[in-house]
Amino acid sequence: MLTQGSLRLGRIRGIEIGIQPSLLLAFLLITWTLAGQWLPQLLPDRSGGVYLLLAACGAVGLFASVLIHELGHSFTAQARGIKVSSISLFIFGGVANIASEPETPRDEFWITVFGPLTSFALALLGGAAWYVLRDLSAPLAVLALILGVINLQLAVFNLIPGFPLDGGRILRSLLWAATGNLLRATRIASIIGQLVGYGFIILGLYRVLAARDFVGGLWIIFIGWFLLNAAEGTYRQLLADQTFRGVRVAQVMTPDPVTAEPGTTIARLVDEYILGRRLRCVPVLIGDRLLGIITVTDIQRVPREAWPQTYISEAMTRADALQTIRPTDDLALALRLLGGGRFHQLPVLDGDGRLIGMLSRADIIHYMQLHPSVAGARPPTSPSTTA
Ligand SMILES: [Zn+2]
Repeated sequence: MLTQGSLRLGRIRGIEIGIQPSLLLAFLLITWTLAGQWLPQLLPDRSGGVYLLLAACGAVGLFASVLIHELGHSFTAQARGIKVSSISLFIFGGVANIASEPETPRDEFWITVFGPLTSFALALLGGAAWYVLRDLSAPLAVLALILGVINLQLAVFNLIPGFPLDGGRILRSLLWAATGNLLRATRIASIIGQLVGYGFIILGLYRVLAARDFVGGLWIIFIGWFLLNAAEGTYRQLLADQTFRGVRVAQVMTPDPVTAEPGTTIARLVDEYILGRRLRCVPVLIGDRLLGIITVTDIQRVPREAWPQTYISEAMTRADALQTIRPTDDLALALRLLGGGRFHQLPVLDGDGRLIGMLSRADIIHYMQLHPSVAGARPPTSPSTTA
């Protein structure tokens, strides 16, 4: 499944390729840098139009290079029998969504190494193309040279040993092989990753303040901030995965939730359910069938004067827009779904599609409080809570 908000480009060997809208900003920045700085130096005395056209080609080539780098990881994973669902390109590069965390350090090592190796190969290809083209067409030769250099940078940047960059993953796979403990290896790699993130932020601040390079400096700060978050997040995810492994949704959910019929008015729902029973979310059912859920946020979208005449079926979040889960699913899966920030509760449906419970963050926190052994893991958080 592609990340929310991604634009689907197509499918390669069963892998969905998507781009996120943030890529447009990267496209503009890169085009601007190439047209304003690199091209006038490498190819003097051409018109602004030529620079812009070549810069746009260079930016597209950069994204193609990132995609091929991710395909390098993905094809290696597939060759080792590990499924890859999608590749997303976004402002800081690309990410291949590999179905599961690698099972062995050997898998992780090889899957990771083939990304930078692919970029090195593309860099050589760019260099070779420059060599062949340099007497035939100066603009094409310069474009090939730029793409070669960009791929060399991609390979080298990704080899920085800051988890979750490739270099950090390689480091983790080596630590994992040496200690036999994935969690400890991830923690060490994640701490190094956070240090690298801080390093980038400091370097970026230096570029902005001392060298007055605002765009370049801010860019480095953003990358550092991204690395910092990613390094922390991956470790927390793994910790949660390990802590909750084997715990089933049925053990944690609120069973037999209070439900409402679609013909209830919002006014009645507010009086009887929201105020009366202090509920924040009510599943809407006809018989056994889940039509949707209505939350406080859904209600707030309807003007107060309209509450007595509006049925909850008109204001609810429909079932097809909801993520549901099964009672036998692992809690780690639920945590991943809730942690994404898009869903705040998961209706729990049995094999026949009947609603048998609801699972929210509050349920998980409650469970953790009663089970001290899992209290070391953090509950899922998200920037905003709507229900
Ligand atoms: Zn990579």
